[in-house]
This record gives sequence, C-alpha cells and structure tokens, in this order.
Amino acid sequence: MIDLVPHFIFAKDTSGRYILANEAVAKVYGIPAEQICQMRDADFAPNAEEAAGFRRDDLEVLRTGKIKHINEVITDYDGNVRELMTTKVPFDSPETGPGVLGICIDVTERNAALRKIAYLAEHCHLTGLPNRSQLAAFLEEPIRNAEPYALLFIDLDNFKTINDSLGHKVGDAFLKYISARFEQMRESKDFVCRFGGDEFIFVLRNTSADAASAFSSKLLRIVAEPVTIEGMTLTSTCSIGIAKSPEHGMTKNVLMKRADAALYKAKARGRNMFQCYSEELQHAVDRRLFIYNGLQAAACNAELELYAQPIVDAQSGAYTSAEALLRWRSRELGPIPPDEFIPLAEETGLIGMIGNWVIEEACRTQRAWLDRGIDLHLSVNVSARQLLEPGFERYFRETYSMTGVPPEKIGVEITEGVLLGDVESACSVLSSLADSGVTVSVDDFGVGYSSLNYLRKLPLTFLKIDRSFVKDCVENPDDAALVRTIIMLAKNLRLKVVAEGVETEAQVSFLRAEGADLFQGYLFAKPMPVGDLLSRLEDGRTKTGHVLQAPR
Ligand code: C2E
Ligand code: CA
Ligand code: CA
Repeated sequence: MIDLVPHFIFAKDTSGRYILANEAVAKVYGIPAEQICQMRDADFAPNAEEAAGFRRDDLEVLRTGKIKHINEVITDYDGNVRELMTTKVPFDSPETGPGVLGICIDVTERNAALRKIAYLAEHCHLTGLPNRSQLAAFLEEPIRNAEPYALLFIDLDNFKTINDSLGHKVGDAFLKYISARFEQMRESKDFVCRFGGDEFIFVLRNTSADAASAFSSKLLRIVAEPVTIEGMTLTSTCSIGIAKSPEHGMTKNVLMKRADAALYKAKARGRNMFQCYSEELQHAVDRRLFIYNGLQAAACNAELELYAQPIVDAQSGAYTSAEALLRWRSRELGPIPPDEFIPLAEETGLIGMIGNWVIEEACRTQRAWLDRGIDLHLSVNVSARQLLEPGFERYFRETYSMTGVPPEKIGVEITEGVLLGDVESACSVLSSLADSGVTVSVDDFGVGYSSLNYLRKLPLTFLKIDRSFVKDCVENPDDAALVRTIIMLAKNLRLKVVAEGVETEAQVSFLRAEGADLFQGYLFAKPMPVGDLLSRLEDGRTKTGHVLQAPR
C-alpha cells in the first residue's frame, strides 16, 4: 500500500539503517527498495554532505522524542536537485526498537511556480525590469536615511506611433531594447523600473542635481540611438522630468507628482529634453488644472461670451465681415485669454463642447443681425480636433438651419494644423460645407509647417496672413518680402487676402500697395461684444469711424 503513495515513506533504526522504504524512495536513488533496507544514507546517497545532514536530523528526533518539520534538498540518482518538505517522527516498536519514521513530499515544481509568481508580481513580464510595485520598496532605505536622491520620470515621445503603425509585436520588441539599454546604464546602487506603458522611472541614489542632469543627457542620447527590428530601423526620443529629494519633497508620492509635472513641461517645450522641477512649474500645472475644471462648467455658468472683430475692405474701408472670438470670464480666476484656454481645450477634448457653443452663439448673432437688416459675414474659428470630431458637419448644418441663417453668411477659419492630421477627412468635411456656401479661410497663414499642396486641395475663399508677419512688414525687409510672396501666391490661387493685426497707417499703405484685399486689426476696431458691434453698425458709426486714405 505504501508503494502506491507518491511521497517518500521510510523508517530507520537508531543506527541509521533503513528498516523500511517505499517505491518512491527507491526510484529517487535508483536502487530496488529491498536493497535499501539495512543500508544507511551514507551508503548510497550521491551527495555525502546531504547524507550527513539527514543523519543529524534523525539523531535530533531520537534525542528529543519530538516531531521535526524540515525543508531540505536532496540530489537524486540523476544528479537533479529536488526540494522536499519532510516530516520526521520518533517511534518505538516491540519488533524493531526505537527509530525515525519519515515522510517527504517533493515540492520542487510547486516552489518553482511560487518563485515565478513572486517574480512576476515584482517584474514586468515583457522587459524583465522591476515593475512599479518595487519603487516604494526601493525608496524605503534612502527615505529612512534621509539620503539625497533623484527621481527621473521618463516617457518615450513617439512610442504610440511605433505601436499603432507597426503593430504591438514591433512595439513590444522596441520596449525590450530600450529597457535593456536602461538596465545597462543603471549603476548597481540605483534603480530602474517600467512604470507602465512607455513610462519608466529611474532612481539615482546619493546624487546631486548636476549629476542627475548629466545622467539625463546621457539617457536622451542612449534612447535616441536607432534600434533595428525585423529589418526596420526605428528611432524614438524621450522626455524626462526630474524631482530631487529632499529639495522637492521627501515622500514617494510628492516626488512622483513633481517629476510628472516636470515631465509635462519637458513635453510642452518640445520633447526630447529633460526638465527639473521648480516651484513656478507647479503653479503652471495647478493653473492648468484650475482652468480645465473651470472650463467644464463655463458654458453652463454663463461665463462665456462671444466677441466679434470687424474686417474691413482695403479700398473702401467698409465693414464687410467679422470674426467671432471667444471670451471667458471665470468667476474664480477672472478673464482668461483664449491663447491660454483654447490650446488646453484642444488638448483635453473640451474644445468640442466649447466650439459647439461658439457655433450656436455665432448663428444666433448672425440671425439677429439679419433681422436688423445688417449684412455682415461672420466666421468662427474651428480647431483641427473639433473639425474631425464625428458629427461636426451635421451639427454645423443643423445649427445654421435651425437658427435660420443662410450658409453663405457664415464661414469657418481653420489653421494649417488641420492638415497635420487626417487630411482626407478634413478636406471632405470642408468641401461639403463649402459646396453649401459656407466660406473657408486658412488662418494664421505662414506659421504652419504643411506643404503648399493643400492650398489647391482645400475649398478656400480667404487666406489670412498671420499677424506676426504684418507686425514688422514696414521696417523689416524680410517680413516685407514674405508678405509680398504670400499675397502673390494667394492671388495666383484666386484667394482673397486678409491681413491680420493691422495696427498702423504705414502697414495699411504697404499692404494695400501689395494687393491685400481686407484688413483686420486694432487700427480699425478691437474685438468687442457682439451686441456692441451691432449698435455700432446700427448707428452707422462705421462710416464716420476710421476713414481710409483714398487709394493712390
Ligand atoms: P486668431 O484666430 O488669429 O484671432 C485673431 C487674434 O488676433 C485675436 O486674439 C484678436 O484679438 C487678435 N488681434 C486682432 N487684431 C489685432 C491687432 O491689431 N493687434 C494684435 N496684437 N492682435 C490683434 P484673441 O481674441 O486673443 O484670440 C486668440 C486666438 O484664440 C485666436 O487667434 C484663435 O486662434 C483662438 N480663438 C479665439 N476664439 C476661438 C474660438 O471660438 N474657437 C477656437 N477654436 N479658437 C478661438
Ligand atoms: Ca481666426
Ligand atoms: Ca489668425
């Protein structure tokens, strides 16, 4: 019966001779069970040291008369090391006298599995680096000793592109390469882990701010070295945020938060760089958070207002159209400039909701103007993300038809940024709107990066020269040449040219001579609440307001 049991079962007398051994014992030592009896461990165990250990335990059990539990290792007949969970029990029988009864359970596989589980819980299965759970454990000692250390938050700049365009297999291989480089750069006193996705954290112990910066420069270089996967040469850069203990905080959470804020700044400044945490940086991050939270409720809280800035005819000086410009007066933070909240709204996706508000308000305004017999085209700014949101076109059409505004009385202004994303979709939405009569302007022209090819593809009516070129076009020959070239280009494509940011008579003379069709700028009117513009138009003040010099 005991031969059926897969565990080792045996009994030895006081001299260490076996008086009983089951099949399992026989198998592990490669000797028939009958032969084992009358032998001692030292007679057949492949490892003499182990045999001596068995004997020591047996003697202890005999001496104390107590059960003993032992975790032990044995080397078997083939030289494999097995891990055993053993229990030895003293006995005294009338036939054999006193002795030791033993049962061993082979736990080699179970222990290996447990070790694997423990390893996986602490390491990233893909890269083999420790995972985020190990960070706190590693920081315990430096924090206890109040050591100066630096925490580096690293984020790959274009991993998403690699992953999305080349697939997860390539993405995974890429992460492995980068992780191996990090592990190679790590000094034995330091720590690196995969924090998640394409984020990594380095902890540099006993380091100065300068040393942490120097190390970060090295990291930037090492990450930027090309990697070859499946015959393709891939490169990525990374951005790094650095926070230092004790200067920037003592606990893991505070340092992480600050390193993250610094990382955000490094990304905002253009990526592929490192940034140390500073107090001002935190203010900027906090303000962003305030703005984000405030913006979500701005439309409901009636904190948004639509302004409009007239656009005048370059020859007659008459108001021909206007641009709708959004204003936000936050109850908590006061007025926030659009240059601050619009980019944040674009980044966070709030632009859809805000943009819809602007479109509705602009259509209501246009309807009110038409009802008062005022004929002024009105355009709204539409950001790339908003334009590409599913349902944008339908929403735009529904809004103008429901407010009773003829499509040719409104327009959209888009920047070249639209062309950096999904060009096909953007073109299709804009063409369809243009077919209905909605005008399309390309805004801030000259500051984008896209090819000129799109000027032919898009259904454009107006080209607006960015005010940064208009600003110095009179004094600076380079800017003058640029403006001249842009106007020529626009004329060849039969687009109407709007010069933005016109502030002086000198600019007016230059721009008019060069052939600009329309002017927008403080010289004629600043942006004003749409109601004010209406009163101004009704008073006929436009006629007596700014009078342009007669064309030469
Ligand atoms: P933009 O589309 O280029 O709008 C023209 C900006 O130039 C306005 O700034 C206007 O006040 C300013 N400006 C006009 N004339 C002059 C001038 O003579 N001198 C100077 N220095 N500036 C002049 P604003 O209103 O601060 O808007 C800034 C930007 O915010 C806009 O630039 C536009 O990109 C964005 N924005 C404003 N409203 C909206 C909106 O409803 N939706 C979207 N997506 N963006 C908007
Ligand atoms: Ca604009
Ligand atoms: Ca503009």
